[in-house]
Amino acid sequence: MSNEFANAARPALENAQLRANLRGATHAIRERRARVTAELPDWEELREAGRRIKDAATRHLDVHLEQVERTVTAAGGRVHWAPDAAAANRIVGELIEATGEREVVKVKSLATDEIGLNRALAERGIRALETDLAELIVQLAGDSSSHILVPAIHRNRGEIRELFRANLPGTERLTDEPQQLAEAARRHLRNQFLKAKVAVSGANFAVAETGSVCVVESEGNGRMCLTLPELLITVMGIEKVLPRFADLAVMLSLLPRSSTAERMNPYTSLWTGVTPGDGPREFHLVLLDAGRSATLADPVGRVALHCIRCSACLNVCPVYERTGGHAYESTYPGPIGAILTPQLSGLRAGASLPWASSLCGACYEVCPVKIDIPSVLVHLRGRVNREVAGFGGGGEGAAMGLLARAFARRSRYERAQRLGRALARPLARDGWIARALPGPLGAWGTVRDLPAPPEQSFREWWRGRRS
Ligand code: SF4
Repeated sequence: MSNEFANAARPALENAQLRANLRGATHAIRERRARVTAELPDWEELREAGRRIKDAATRHLDVHLEQVERTVTAAGGRVHWAPDAAAANRIVGELIEATGEREVVKVKSLATDEIGLNRALAERGIRALETDLAELIVQLAGDSSSHILVPAIHRNRGEIRELFRANLPGTERLTDEPQQLAEAARRHLRNQFLKAKVAVSGANFAVAETGSVCVVESEGNGRMCLTLPELLITVMGIEKVLPRFADLAVMLSLLPRSSTAERMNPYTSLWTGVTPGDGPREFHLVLLDAGRSATLADPVGRVALHCIRCSACLNVCPVYERTGGHAYESTYPGPIGAILTPQLSGLRAGASLPWASSLCGACYEVCPVKIDIPSVLVHLRGRVNREVAGFGGGGEGAAMGLLARAFARRSRYERAQRLGRALARPLARDGWIARALPGPLGAWGTVRDLPAPPEQSFREWWRGRRS
């Protein structure tokens, strides 16, 4: 395994302010989530229903996707298939260029972050303006998102006030009161909404049966994007498809309680194709694969595609709480990122992420669709070892064979113990072997203290005492 995550996490671990911001925010959300989920006597049944729906949806994804194409087209929309990020960026760029517009509004979309759409549009001379408050903060700071739901979770109110004062005209007297910050962003965005001709959105769900697309958000800015412009382009990962409209009822009960700890989402927008005189005149749905089909081929890892991006697993993860999202170097941080990124981007790109976990299981306990993240982490560790590091066959197999032989007979075990002691004791300093292990074991020792082996084992001491 590489040390990429451990190295990327170091600056965050040394930043006390960042750790305090993360701890405050994640603890507040996780406590609220626990309260609102406890209100429902059938919460566990709802989770099981969510799991079954997502399982059925991914098992027959090919059928549901073809149905989406038919139903969206029948409702007046157009469906585009994007096998990878480059294709999705090209499709969106060409659609916008055809309108002659040089500026588009965007409603929060992880899929467009994943494919680097803003950068690709900038290369075509098109400016994408983020309209979600947290995304706007990240964009103004030239920063990157560090949380699925609260992309600016690493910034506190004082930092946001300074950012607004520096970037938004007329905000010199702004305080760090949340209402004032929200009002400043609202005034800045309102004009953009009114003049925008093109919007780009993500999607939380699409329904195969009806061709409806669904976006949930908290500020209402998303709804402005979805209704005011003339052209709406939605970029959606293929795993977001649900078979039936009734499935939405389960998902819309699970998602708000797990994400923002609300009983109901403040703004849930649903649209089906285009409707003359109401909303955008043109609608395009870009179905993004970008590693999802390959993920489906792994019978253990494919459950990562069940994720509904609620972020509950981030808020309870002891690793995320200390490192924040940037250390994951991916659009998807936290426990879900640790299993999704290596599968979507290729094992080599996210090879260290399956180790970014203590395997405590807190993520599994809160996941609204019951994704067994710890089991997938262990599975991916095995895959990285075999497919990237080349372990598992020759070297590792031989080492395990030797260990098995040593443990099989007491005499051999005791000889191995004596040999281990003779080799390890010279490495000890003040009773500990810390950061001094040779070769590949050195990385193991950078974050762990290994006590020096005692001069004699318990058995030796016992034998000596009896004799
Ligand atoms: S893995 Fe589960 S808990 Fe984590 S973001 Fe996805 S749905 Fe939410």
